[in-house]
Amino acid sequence: MRHRCLLVAAALVLAAARPAGAAGKLNVVTATEDLASLAREVGGDRIDVEALARGYQDPHFVEPKPSFILKLNRADLLIAVGRELEIGWLPPLINQSRNSKLQPGAAGYLDASLTVKILELPTGQITRAMGDVHPLGNPHYWLDPDNGRRVAQAIQKKLSELSPNDSAYFAARYADFDKRLAAAEKRWDVEMAPYKGLKIVTYHRSWPNFADRFGLDVVGYIEPRPGIPPSPSHTLELIQEMKRQGVKIMLVEPYFDLKTPDSISRDTGARVLVMAPSVGGEKEITDYLKLFDYDINLLVAAIKQVGAK
Ligand SMILES: [Zn+2]
Repeated sequence: MRHRCLLVAAALVLAAARPAGAAGKLNVVTATEDLASLAREVGGDRIDVEALARGYQDPHFVEPKPSFILKLNRADLLIAVGRELEIGWLPPLINQSRNSKLQPGAAGYLDASLTVKILELPTGQITRAMGDVHPLGNPHYWLDPDNGRRVAQAIQKKLSELSPNDSAYFAARYADFDKRLAAAEKRWDVEMAPYKGLKIVTYHRSWPNFADRFGLDVVGYIEPRPGIPPSPSHTLELIQEMKRQGVKIMLVEPYFDLKTPDSISRDTGARVLVMAPSVGGEKEITDYLKLFDYDINLLVAAIKQVGAK
C-alpha cells in the first residue's frame, strides 16, 4: 500500500519535473553523504550534488521517499557505494526514476566500489540464507582514507567523461583534494600511532577498513552476523571473549539500539562509544576530512579515559 502511494506521488511530481542540467551544471545524485562530499571536492561549482541517505541513517536500510525519485529523474549521474550496500532500497528507485542514463551499466551510473580496496571478500558460494548483508565483501570501504582518494579519482574520471570541457578543472580540484587528504592522513597517523594493536569490539562490521588503516584489532561484533540483531547466546560468548582479551572500547553506529551494548558494558566494564561512520552522522561532520577528524578525536579521547592500550 505504502509502496503504491509512493509511486503515485512520484508520478505526480515527475509530471512537473524540470529537464536535467537546467543550469548548465551536471546534476549529481549520490547514495550517501560520504560520496556527496567526495563529489563536491572534485566537482566544485561545476556540479550540483545531492545525497539520498542521511549520514545518521543505516545505509543498508533507508526509507525511500518520493523526493528521491524526483532527484533521480533529474540527475545526470548517480554515484552508488555498491557491493550491494543499497540493494534494499536503491534499485527500485532507479527503475521508478524513468531515467535511462542512470541504469547500472549506463554512462550516468558510477559504482564507487570498483576501484577501491575491498576487505572481507567472500570465499565459496555466496548466499543470503544466513541473513548476511555483506555478500560481495565489506561495503563500508570509505572508512579508509585511501579508498576515499580512489573514489575521488573515479569521480574525476567520470565527471570529465560527462563534461569534457571541464576536465582540467576537475583534475585540478582532485589534485588539491589529494594534497589536503595526504596532509590530514599524516596528522591522523600520528594521533593513532600510540594505539596500534588496540583491541576493540564493534556493533556492525562498519569499521574493518578503518581498523586496517589505523592498526586497530577488532576482536568481535555485537551483531552475530551483519544485519542480524544481537542474540543472548552470541552476547554471552562475546562477553567472555571481551573479558579474556581485556577489551575496553565498543564502537556503536548511531542508528543502533544501545540496550545490548549497555548491558555488555555493565558486565565487562568496556566503554560504549557511539561513533559516526558517515559524513552527516553528527552535525559537526560536514565533509569527508572532518569525518576522520571527528572520529579520531573521539576515539583517542575515549582510549585515554578508559586507559586502554
Ligand atoms: Zn554493513
